[in-house]
Parts: sequence; structure tokens; C-alpha cells
Amino acid sequence: MRQCGFCEKRGNALLDWSWWWSATPSLLCEDCQSSFEKVTAGCIRCAKAINEVGVCLECQDWERHYPNLLERNVSLYRYNAFMKSYLSQWKFSGDYVLGQLFVSQWRDFFHRQFPQAEAIAPIPLTEERRKQRKFNQAYQLAALLEVPKIIESERYKEGQQSAKGRVERLDMDDGSWVKLLSANLPKSIVIIDDVYTTGATVHQFAKTLRGAGVLEVASCTLIRA
Ligand SMILES: [Zn+2]
Ligand SMILES: [Zn+2]
Repeated sequence: MRQCGFCEKRGNALLDWSWWWSATPSLLCEDCQSSFEKVTAGCIRCAKAINEVGVCLECQDWERHYPNLLERNVSLYRYNAFMKSYLSQWKFSGDYVLGQLFVSQWRDFFHRQFPQAEAIAPIPLTEERRKQRKFNQAYQLAALLEVPKIIESERYKEGQQSAKGRVERLDMDDGSWVKLLSANLPKSIVIIDDVYTTGATVHQFAKTLRGAGVLEVASCTLIRA
């Protein structure tokens, strides 16, 4: 019998046989599947969990400081205790299989939200962070979506030698900055990242893209913290 892709150490077996015929079989046991909490309501602009209907205070703040910068953020899952343990395993083990566990849900979600998407831009990590984590999960998330164009960029620490000769730059919240590598940017781009927390990284990356002439920028993140 096959084991659950996440809690295999606990020995939970997959109960159903859908993997036998389904093109997108479930890799998770029922316990784990039900522990991933999907976003079903919240702020209409950033998916934050709020009680009232409409736009949250954080978004109103962003809109005041950066009007029309980011169209909206959508997220598939909430950040709960289960997601926290899942994320830390995924980020620091660099385990490719862990990224595959939600691939069909993630892909369906993205294409429902952005049926016309022609280009996506994963948020890059600095070299230092990349080494820590072994891989960049925003790029992994982007690659899973099967969108025609992936916008490449690099992220540097201030003062880094390789940063010389930059074309587009913008300070990110951690003092690093981003250089866009792709030319001929389309007029509409969806930013891809693993978690939307304060929105600072996404907004700053959106500013880079808008500065490079992109007219519409939205973001799609796996998790809304
Ligand atoms: Zn499980
Ligand atoms: Zn909001």
C-alpha cells in the first residue's frame, strides 16, 4: 500500500485507489488533505482573513501609498499550524516531492484566477538565501503552472560585485534589490511566491515590473499568512 507523501513517518497509508486511474492522483492521506485549509473568504484584494466584507486595512494602506500598483493578490491556502510544519520541511529539505503534493490544486487554482495569463514572474531569492534553502520555491511554484513565459530576475545584496551594470533596480524590504533579466516584457504579469505575509515583497516587486513598463501586475501565492 502506498504511503502519504507528507506524513509517511507516521505510516498513514492512502485510503483511496484514485491514483490507479486518475491523471492527478492524490498523494496525501485524508488527514493531511483536510489539514490544508483553502482560502474561501477574506479581503477581496489580498485574501487576508477578515470578518467584514471588502478590502482590509492593510490593502487600504497600500493603495494610499502606491495607488494602482498591484491589482490583487490571491492565495490558495491559509497559514495554519499544519501548513507551518509543511512549509518548513519543504523550504529547508528542498524536497521536490513535497512541492508535488498540491500541484494539481495549485495549477487549477491559478488558471481559474488568471485564465488569460501569458507571463508569470517568480520572486527571486538572494544567493545567500538560495544556498540556505537549496532551491527557490517561488520558481518551483512557477514551473508547475505551465504558463508560456516565465520572467527571470536576480536578487542581490547591496554592494554585491555581480550587481554592477544593472538595468532595473528596486530596494526590497531586506535591503536587497532585483534585476530583471527578461527583455520584451508583456503588458500583464502575475507575480508568483510561496507566502504573502505583509505584502511588502510582492508590492516592491510589482513596482519593479511597473517601472519596466508592465501595465497590469497581480500576484498569486500558495499561502496567505
Ligand atoms: Zn498524511
Ligand atoms: Zn487586503
